[in-house]
Amino acid sequence: MTQAILIEKTGETQTVGLKEIELPPLAEGDVAVDVAFSTLNYKDALAITGAAPVVRTFPMVPGIDCSGIVRESRHPDFTEGDRVVLNGWGVGEKHWGGLAGRAHLKGDWLVKLPAGVSLRQAMAIGTAGYTAMLCVMALEANGVTPDRGEVVVTGATGGVGSVATALLAAKGFTVAAVTGRPEEEAYLKSLGAASIVPREELTGKPRPLGKERWAGAVDVVGGEVLANVISMMTYRGTVAACGLAGSMNLPSSVAPFILRGVTLAGVDSVMCPREDRIAAWERLASDLDMGKLEEMVTEVALEDVVSVAPKFLEGKVKGRIVVPVA
Ligand code: NDP
Repeated sequence: MTQAILIEKTGETQTVGLKEIELPPLAEGDVAVDVAFSTLNYKDALAITGAAPVVRTFPMVPGIDCSGIVRESRHPDFTEGDRVVLNGWGVGEKHWGGLAGRAHLKGDWLVKLPAGVSLRQAMAIGTAGYTAMLCVMALEANGVTPDRGEVVVTGATGGVGSVATALLAAKGFTVAAVTGRPEEEAYLKSLGAASIVPREELTGKPRPLGKERWAGAVDVVGGEVLANVISMMTYRGTVAACGLAGSMNLPSSVAPFILRGVTLAGVDSVMCPREDRIAAWERLASDLDMGKLEEMVTEVALEDVVSVAPKFLEGKVKGRIVVPVA
């Protein structure tokens, strides 16, 4: 038995709370992990509140990520005592997840934590930070370098946005941070943002082509904000799009793509191939300033995650939330 957040559904009514659960037996290829830390991401908030149909089967232990120590392994690549991190693969949606004292996970889903990243830092990074790294890698793969001009990060005070801002600034990019919270200017500048762009500047119907402002972009917001960003990319600029915090829509035109050669690079962390995950975690270990990461962290106890989750949907979460479990 272990303690876990459990989402249950009877008819149309969803209930969520801290419960004692019995995990399913370990199958061949599975690994039992003593969870040290989990975290709350935007998707966890959708699952816990029931605001979007993230959970596919009930009852469900939410938590799309966790870090911990291998307790027992039926997978050839892992042995007792290994430090591991889990992101995505439908965990917390289709498979019982990380907001629990213990998790039974497929070994194929796990990544060994690079030396130099603690179990707590791994979840301060979490899926938000690992996705931010995938976005930075997408910009690099498309030839975006600091000499090409300024880059922009939307939803900058959030989890993905905070880590993306810190990573890009550390790589020598001049980062413009888009936020609906101008009062967080000092926080964003401490992460390395060079300037703040009020969110209102990027809302409203976009023109097919706007003034060329940015060589690269990390967008977590979608909707009009993303459409406006696309219209303002410089020639052959690249936008890494990973989120829908504002909207699922994309009211854009083909003009930036066919007249300026802009690339829209989609970023998915959930089914991302293993070699890319390992590369992203290695890069996080080497590139992310762990002092800046610590500035992003708020700790929330396991028993409080249900009351904190709605804040994501209100756009009120700053940085990263870490949930100590052990
Ligand atoms: P957060 O809630 O931490 O950050 C989202 C930020 O977006 C907010 O902090 C806010 O920043 C801004 N925002 C919120 N609501 C609105 C709105 N209505 N209009 C415009 N901006 C808004 O979430 P995460 O960083 O964890 O995740 C961000 C997005 O990325 C989510 O949509 C999530 O689902 C997605 N995601 C996708 C992944 C993938 O694999 N593709 C993986 C991880 C996340 P500010 O106040 O500074 O404007």
